[in-house]
Amino acid sequence: MLEVIKGYKEFKNIELRNYEKLFYDLAHHGQNPKTLFIGCSDSRVVPNIITNSKPGDLFVTRNIGNFVPPFKPDSDYHATASVIEYATEHLEVENIIVCGHSNCGAISSMFKEVKVTEKNIHTIKWLSLGEEAKKEALKLEPNAPLDVIKEDTTKISVVHQLKNLLTYPSVKERVDEKKLFLHGWYYDIESGKILCYSKDEERFVPISKKYATNQQ
Ligand SMILES: [Zn+2]
Repeated sequence: MLEVIKGYKEFKNIELRNYEKLFYDLAHHGQNPKTLFIGCSDSRVVPNIITNSKPGDLFVTRNIGNFVPPFKPDSDYHATASVIEYATEHLEVENIIVCGHSNCGAISSMFKEVKVTEKNIHTIKWLSLGEEAKKEALKLEPNAPLDVIKEDTTKISVVHQLKNLLTYPSVKERVDEKKLFLHGWYYDIESGKILCYSKDEERFVPISKKYATNQQ
């Protein structure tokens, strides 16, 4: 905890000066982010760092495995769904990025036998959102090394989450009107490289300007 407090003091006394004007503008004029970033809670995947973006640029939600639960209007509390609705209906973001990553602990844990207890019940349920992707990956390359299957699962899962996004009326409507574009990313922790899902090629390709104008 002391490390966090030390970090805050360094931010307040040194770093904050670099943001004075930006924070003044954001405080007085509000936020106007163009992109919703849905990433993994993993401490190694920091949205603002990997996109070199500033405060105010990204509306962010992170969860274990960067999953998007399908639209399900009931009486439960739905944090990710609420972020999606707020970002599309209120902020009117133009892009939603779902970003998976290498060495994902959420994906890895789906390949382990874990007993459900009161201490992990929510996590186990949450991870079931990646189950279909795991099945597809195992079918795709049944004899591949486990690391390859995990990487395939991560990538296939990103594509599934993009499909889940379209179950939200606020997303579907804006996508159909071409006011909103959905992007599937795969970030490699070690190299820092980002691949993006190409709908035309049905595979992940290096990110490029051409890709950015050709999304669903
Ligand atoms: Zn992860």
